[in-house]
Amino acid sequence: ASKQRLLVVANRLPVSAVRHGEDSWQLEMSVGGLVTALLGVKEFDTRWIGWAGVNVPDEIGQKALAKALDEKRCIPVFLDEEVVHQYYNGYCNNILWPLFHYIGLPQEDRLATTRSFQSQFDAYKKANQLFADVVNEHYEEGDVVWCHDYHLMFLPKCLKERNSKMKVGWFLHTPFPSSEIHRMLPSRLELLRSVLAADLVGFHTYDYARHFVSACTRILGLEGTPEGVEDQGKLTRIAAFPVGIDSERFIKALELPEVQDHMKVLKQRFAGRKVMLGVDRLDMIKGIPQKILAFEKFLEENPNWRNKVVLLQIAVPSRTDVPEYQKLTSQVHEIVGRINGRFGSLTALPIHHLDRSLDFHELCALYAVTDVALVTSLRDGMNLVSYEYVACQESKKGVLILSEFAGAAQSLGAGAILVNPWNVTEVASSIGYALNMPADEREKRHHHNFKHVISHTAQEWAATFVSELNVTIVEAQLRT
Ligand code: UDP
Repeated sequence: ASKQRLLVVANRLPVSAVRHGEDSWQLEMSVGGLVTALLGVKEFDTRWIGWAGVNVPDEIGQKALAKALDEKRCIPVFLDEEVVHQYYNGYCNNILWPLFHYIGLPQEDRLATTRSFQSQFDAYKKANQLFADVVNEHYEEGDVVWCHDYHLMFLPKCLKERNSKMKVGWFLHTPFPSSEIHRMLPSRLELLRSVLAADLVGFHTYDYARHFVSACTRILGLEGTPEGVEDQGKLTRIAAFPVGIDSERFIKALELPEVQDHMKVLKQRFAGRKVMLGVDRLDMIKGIPQKILAFEKFLEENPNWRNKVVLLQIAVPSRTDVPEYQKLTSQVHEIVGRINGRFGSLTALPIHHLDRSLDFHELCALYAVTDVALVTSLRDGMNLVSYEYVACQESKKGVLILSEFAGAAQSLGAGAILVNPWNVTEVASSIGYALNMPADEREKRHHHNFKHVISHTAQEWAATFVSELNVTIVEAQLRT
């Protein structure tokens, strides 16, 4: 039998596209978690639908791009600059992102945000409708349509309105906040109703799923059941599907000569010192200032460690044109500078801070040679960095300090040291505990987490979601 077709709809296609002349495009596949997850699922014939991240105003360029993308099984959705500005920068990144992570609306332009809310939400709906148009154009009977993330909460409804038989799933990669937070959104009703149009709705953790069900019961007055949410006899199935990583890819990479070379260099560079690692996109949700302040407190209270430990913080630039993110960058630089000035010596600095991304091989080497990973997200849907660190620590058995507000705390809590990132005193003492931890305890904790990471992979996550979606639909047919 031929494979079932899976249409994966996400805001961004897993490619970066660069234009070389009127009708020629150069494409590069990006290997994020979602891509490897779905490449690993062999039982489906997968296609991607999304925005290529570039503005293509002319028809010749659009046709050429669509043709080039077709070879990568990708189908473009074209969004003009104004829509991108209002839908993506505005509604998605300026409203939904901070709200879903309990940050609240940006302080300085709160009123401006309030004023532009309706036009941004209109752009959001319009953009979602454009995605739906492309899905409809390519949909064939029997296909499974899997919608991703907060950018596309309006999509399930757009799809089902056209074709109620379409199999539609929606998965949220961020937290879903308490209903008390969701309540603040002027568009709270429409967003919930639209998501409920899907057959299956998935979250990383039970808490997020529970918050979503509470929002539906309290805000929409619907009935929550153990299976999901019921509206006039129609059930929307709600469940938790914690994502994982392609752990093989990391474990195998450690054997590569290139990675081994990086490891050697790093070991020499930091010989005689313990190395703590932070890897985060530069985003307020990651708690980078809080992490650095906790490290300062640790140095303050433990003079004997001052020349014996270094914090390596990789801060991957993100949304660099947004003022809020620029402010965060300078805030972090200021704190790092102050601490290095305070505790540095002529030959060594306590904090190495980089404003750049690393290539995959450098990243694996760093994961493998460092003694402690410090993840202090104030909120984080899952946090894959913690999984990747564990996957690379089979020989060193380093310690993971992990925020209780990351989704990963639900799965790696047994092996990690869980902390409240707002409590600088607690994080500082956890740093001390981690640096002094005896080998047998490190081994036990690592083993716990490693077992989890290698047995809950991204591939398995994707396969489980899609098969659950198929089952949900069969069950719904049996009920009617
Ligand atoms: N990452 C990367 N380049 C870097 C540093 C990190 O591609 O220089 C990757 C990292 O391997 C991980 C992802 O970025 O897969 C971050 O995922 P996570 O869930 O931790 O946080 P997010 O950035 O999605 O909020």
